[in-house]
Amino acid sequence: MKALVLTEYNQFDLQDLPKPGIRPNEVLVRVQAVGICGSDVHGMDGSSGRRIPPIVMGHEASGIIAEVGSDVRDWSVGDRVTFDSTVYALDDWYSRRGHYNLSDGREVVGVSTPDFKRQGAFAEYVSVPQHILYAIPDNVTFTQAALVEPVAVALHALSLTPIQINDSAVVVGAGMIGLFIIQALKLAGCTTIIAIDLDDDRLALAQTLGATHAINARSGEVARQVQALTHGRGADVSFEVVGAGPTVETAIECVRKGATVTLVGNLAPTVEIPLQAVVTRQLRLQGSCAINGEYEAALALISSGKINVEAILSAEVPLEEGADWFKRLYAKEKGLIKVVLKP
Ligand SMILES: [Zn+2]
Repeated sequence: MKALVLTEYNQFDLQDLPKPGIRPNEVLVRVQAVGICGSDVHGMDGSSGRRIPPIVMGHEASGIIAEVGSDVRDWSVGDRVTFDSTVYALDDWYSRRGHYNLSDGREVVGVSTPDFKRQGAFAEYVSVPQHILYAIPDNVTFTQAALVEPVAVALHALSLTPIQINDSAVVVGAGMIGLFIIQALKLAGCTTIIAIDLDDDRLALAQTLGATHAINARSGEVARQVQALTHGRGADVSFEVVGAGPTVETAIECVRKGATVTLVGNLAPTVEIPLQAVVTRQLRLQGSCAINGEYEAALALISSGKINVEAILSAEVPLEEGADWFKRLYAKEKGLIKVVLKP
């Protein structure tokens, strides 16, 4: 089968690899669409330490089941499926309590670390265990289904945040996940949704997708601008979707006393926080990790048109062009958000 292999850091090679084998509880998926994730782009130069070559990356995928293992009961050849990006153990202490995303030893498809290596979906075929599969609704395309993972990440962040109808919310970072959080906040009944970013094009897109206000962080006095839009108090909740010191500070500064600040971005391993502001204003800092079963909801919202994934789709190209598009994403080409490869 054709596969786009990261042979060494910053070096791709389109190779002919043997089709992956499947265990009794696994299925073989003929990949139809697979998104290039920001973590793949950061991973390819070795800086994250989570894409040790050689590796076939790719964890945001959809396809058609081509083979089923002997223990697979609920899935058949020909089923249209997408799958969780993480493979979690079912007998783990956290999994037994429903916290699949926190389970020990979870592995990510298309990721290699010193502890594990799992070949991903930048290839014609990928094998995955049956317990992470989700059926794609008939009216959802493979490309839309390949974008379900970031939608589910956004829904998970909302699920951890106390939101009431008519609340005000700030979203710091109008990249892909931020844009999905904005759409989800609108569905959750927030009536004031303030997007903050440095890029005016992304802010314009945020407003198209449901943000009621947009603030360019370069305009200064961001917290004061948010207060002016929220009865002088600050927002009821905020989401940080970048993962850097200044943006975390903004997310904290923009909320009212007693608010929850949900942290999704994690580019920087450590940042400074204004401790006294957090304590004396009784803020709750809530981390949000990956996804915990929000795939079904994400697929349903895409199917019903309530979440627009096409808005963030920049290009849909053959797998053969993958290496070029990685370069363009790595160079942060303006206007590029999501690129989907079609093996
Ligand atoms: Zn991803």
